[in-house]
Amino acid sequence: MKQDVVIVGAGMVGAAAAIGVAKLGLSVAVIDAFAPKPYEPEQALDIRVSAISVASEKLLDELGALTSLLSMRNAPYLGLETWELDGCKTAFHASQVDASHLGHIIENRLIQLALWQQFESYPNLTLFCPHKVAQFSRHKEGVLVRLDNGDELDAKLLIAADGANSQVRQWAGIGITAWDYSQSAMLINISTAESQQDVTWQQFTQSGPRSLLPLPGNNASLVWYDDSKRIKQLAGLSNSQLKQQICEHFPKRLNRDFEVLNHGHFGLTRRHAQHYYADNVLLLGDAAHTINPLAGQGVNLGFKDVVALLNVMNKAISAGDNIAQTNVLAEYQQARYHDNLLMMSAMDMFYFGFSNDLLPLKLLRNTALKLANIDNPIKRKVLKYAMGL
Ligand SMILES: Cc1cc2nc3c(=O)[nH]c(=O)nc-3n(C[C@H](O)[C@H](O)[C@H](O)COP(=O)(O)OP(=O)(O)OC[C@H]3O[C@@H](n4cnc5c(N)ncnc54)[C@H](O)[C@@H]3O)c2cc1C
Repeated sequence: MKQDVVIVGAGMVGAAAAIGVAKLGLSVAVIDAFAPKPYEPEQALDIRVSAISVASEKLLDELGALTSLLSMRNAPYLGLETWELDGCKTAFHASQVDASHLGHIIENRLIQLALWQQFESYPNLTLFCPHKVAQFSRHKEGVLVRLDNGDELDAKLLIAADGANSQVRQWAGIGITAWDYSQSAMLINISTAESQQDVTWQQFTQSGPRSLLPLPGNNASLVWYDDSKRIKQLAGLSNSQLKQQICEHFPKRLNRDFEVLNHGHFGLTRRHAQHYYADNVLLLGDAAHTINPLAGQGVNLGFKDVVALLNVMNKAISAGDNIAQTNVLAEYQQARYHDNLLMMSAMDMFYFGFSNDLLPLKLLRNTALKLANIDNPIKRKVLKYAMGL
């Protein structure tokens, strides 16, 4: 089967890319090993949630997925607060940039599902699921992909959107620079005494940040970053024992009238591909970069990759060029590599800057947080950058 583009991985980023490519009029095959579970309003809230920026919402809207996504459950957030020592807080609010909200907290599965619902609107988009890739080979004009059911797809361009441990990236021989933060993040869904909350907050502590993300209704997601051994130990506790630990180690800002519903944990590793393309293979989303999640930027960067890729492809089509031509892929890399690196480095600066207990450094960063709270054009600029605007 001949295709313009084959995408391996139809997670949030791969699915968005597939629709965007189909909208450009190209034929696209998208492969995923698993389909997202259908949505039922009474289902328990998933552990994996993302803070989706206004820029990501714009992309989802252009792809036709936002209305259906927002008709399922979500929590818009208007405020964002961060601090280390009480009294040295930086707070951002949507009203500072005349916006109605800063973004939405949404379950990853629902974002993926809303995108998958769009697939059937495109006759030039074919989904292969549940399937994995059995073999790849290059030929003069592209890439041959053999699936585990024996189907063969012949594409001009192969896109890897198969996540952090991308098999396609490894096959293409694209190396990564990576380090393990020796930390894990525990995500804990709780039911709260408060009704719908609209502020997400984070306190830095020496052993890692403690955060709250509002979820729909009387619910929230707590994120506890800590040494991987400590997180493993917490994961072995009963819900009531875990609640006791949360009460001891989370800031007073968290109302103690809550119940633990469910939890999961993830190791934190920074990875950055050395190139975003090699021959006719291109990397998108977590296949290209994984970032410390402390500011919730991972999938938002992946969606920015998608926007950049669609722009360069659109330009190539208008110029009558082959979308897999080296200069087209290089333009995509140029548009995204340094922006992703900048965001990854900024997260590391926060991460390492706050995990040091030296008194002068502590005073310096808390003074900086306090000063950063003064409303001024720079603060508004930072806020717009975080919103992806
Ligand atoms: C603790 C934590 C909290 C986070 N919070 C946020 C947040 O608040 N905001 C934010 O923007 N980001 C956040 N992130 C990051 C975000 O989850 C990722 O950036 C995002 O999931 C990446 O999406 P993706 O589509 O690139 O990859 P993935 O979500 O990993 O999707 C990859 C897809 O490829 C499929 N696949 C893999 N291999 C194959 C194969 N061989 N054949 C077929 N299919 C395959 C998988 O089934 C999957 O569907 C967080 C991450 C962590 C760890």
